[in-house]
Amino acid sequence: MNPLRLSPSRVNDYLNCPQLYKYRAIDLLPEEISLDAERGTLVHTILERLFDAPAPTRTPELAFALLPTSWEEQLIARPGLREKVQNDKEWIDRVRALLTTYFTLESPATFEPTEREVHVEVNLTESIYLHGYIDRLDIAPSGEVRIVDYKTGKSPKPGWEEKALFQLWIYAFIYWRTMGVLPKLLQLIYLGNGELLRNAPTEADLLRTEKKLISIAEEIVYSIENVSWRPRPSRLCDWCSFKNICPAFAK
Ligand code: SF4
Repeated sequence: MNPLRLSPSRVNDYLNCPQLYKYRAIDLLPEEISLDAERGTLVHTILERLFDAPAPTRTPELAFALLPTSWEEQLIARPGLREKVQNDKEWIDRVRALLTTYFTLESPATFEPTEREVHVEVNLTESIYLHGYIDRLDIAPSGEVRIVDYKTGKSPKPGWEEKALFQLWIYAFIYWRTMGVLPKLLQLIYLGNGELLRNAPTEADLLRTEKKLISIAEEIVYSIENVSWRPRPSRLCDWCSFKNICPAFAK
């Protein structure tokens, strides 16, 4: 059996609904275009490109100026997206609003990121390959590492922060394991409501994350070997591309 490939997104899929994981990771079924996901991609692209410019020029005006070209490129790369966006002005206004919120949370003219959209990977065990893409990695002159992730949605409600942080603990674990440096700070930037979620990970957090990942991987392998995928209906079903074939909704 090939090593199991895990990423924060696929882990999240399995935790939310094993049946959804199967459709995405095993069957590789195509999905309907999600406007929320496409909007997120566009904002991520613009924030990545913003840092190509010299620091003092990283202003909201520059971010807005990057919007038309980035959007045109995305439309070309994603057939079918053009037809999905019914109101161009509303779409652009929403993206501008998210970018405006970004500048209330950070001052990109005051620092240099070390990496953007960086791929990180590690063999968790001989049979588990773990990888992901970090939106931004900032390493201070002192050597302190900050891992940053942009979200175009809203911050989690009280009590749900750990679930949100799990993705960044995975990145921090990979970084720690591969570079031998424990990241100092994890930062989730929620552009949907202008909130930051920060966490200073400890070795205990990352060891707990490793244990949890191995346990999830074992569950996935069990599901594969036994062809056993439990659907787990939730409010996510309203956005699921596979509702019409899902056993949980069979007539
Ligand atoms: S419709 Fe709901 S239960 Fe079915 S696969 Fe999608 S998320 Fe899972």
